[in-house]
Amino acid sequence: MDREQKEQAADRPDTASPQGGQPDLRDLTLDRLAEFVMALGLPVKRAKQIFARLHRRGILDFSQLGISREVTALLDEHAVMSSLAPAKVERSADTTEKFVFRLADGAMIESVLIPEDGRHTLCISSQAGCAMGCAFCLTGGQGFTRNLRPAEIVGQVLAVMTHMVANGIVRATPRELLNNLVFMGMGEPLANYDNLLTALKILMDDHGLGFSERRITVSTCGLVPRMDDLGRDIRVNLAVSLHSADDAVRSSLMPVNRTHGLEALLAACRRYPLGKKKVILFEYIMLKGINDSLADARLLAEKLQGIPSRINLLPYNGSEDTGFACPEEAQTLAFQKMLREAGFNTFIRQSRGADISAACGQLAGKG
Ligand code: SF4
Repeated sequence: MDREQKEQAADRPDTASPQGGQPDLRDLTLDRLAEFVMALGLPVKRAKQIFARLHRRGILDFSQLGISREVTALLDEHAVMSSLAPAKVERSADTTEKFVFRLADGAMIESVLIPEDGRHTLCISSQAGCAMGCAFCLTGGQGFTRNLRPAEIVGQVLAVMTHMVANGIVRATPRELLNNLVFMGMGEPLANYDNLLTALKILMDDHGLGFSERRITVSTCGLVPRMDDLGRDIRVNLAVSLHSADDAVRSSLMPVNRTHGLEALLAACRRYPLGKKKVILFEYIMLKGINDSLADARLLAEKLQGIPSRINLLPYNGSEDTGFACPEEAQTLAFQKMLREAGFNTFIRQSRGADISAACGQLAGKG
């Protein structure tokens, strides 16, 4: 498959169907659930009640929804409700936790919980594997398995919340358990666009988990047409995996750049609708001798001019399989200094959870 075919393959709704062809109610937005509920002859107000309870952590089947026996029996007859439970949880020395999930068809995905200053960020997977083939990324190296269904995306959030509460993390309301959700785990979220959008609508619905747009970040390697779709369809924070401001270097690191080059990518960033005081987060993995020179920093500053930006520099975490290396600390600091002097908010982010293969680019679904 060439690059374009791979992108198209990754964009097909080739998710594993729920058992028996019956709808999985955790795949449905509130509007779709209302249609389903009405088709069963139930009043529409039931939909809000069922939706709210479906998205409480720890609910594993319809009998736990706390609704009448008749309605429970109807749901049992006409629908299913999937849920995820981690097959394995690993805890890093820095308290980062990696959750490995085995899906119904055997596909493996991972989520990473990152505690920081009393706050918790959950890094979510959107696909099993990834078709984008970024040279420095273990997920890309293992290839593409399939898109995740909305229920499998939302299920990661519910499963991790359940784990947190079981481990004594207490908050005033369940929705305060996780401060931020970032779609930076396995897969390219925008290559699973329809399911991503449905999952975002479910996660952000006030009748359910109610995550606000401020608390959700979707990261892309640069699927330009889908960036426009995202900006039109929903309000969330956008992160762009940039990694080089030079077309030739970026194409060698990220094959997507051969289809959607830097000029098109940065134009899409310029027209992405940002709220007041909002910025686009640019992720930049520092790779020794490849993209870490001061000339690279200068070029980056030039290319990002006029885009409200925050730049995260991510010193490469040194996965031996990819053949890349991390620059000396002094080099990364000099790179940061140059960007700061050019007026960019630039931070050096140390990878978390490297000892349990949970750091950026290390998720390979191997457990
Ligand atoms: S960096 Fe992201 S888009 Fe690239 S191969 Fe890895 S998971 Fe896919």
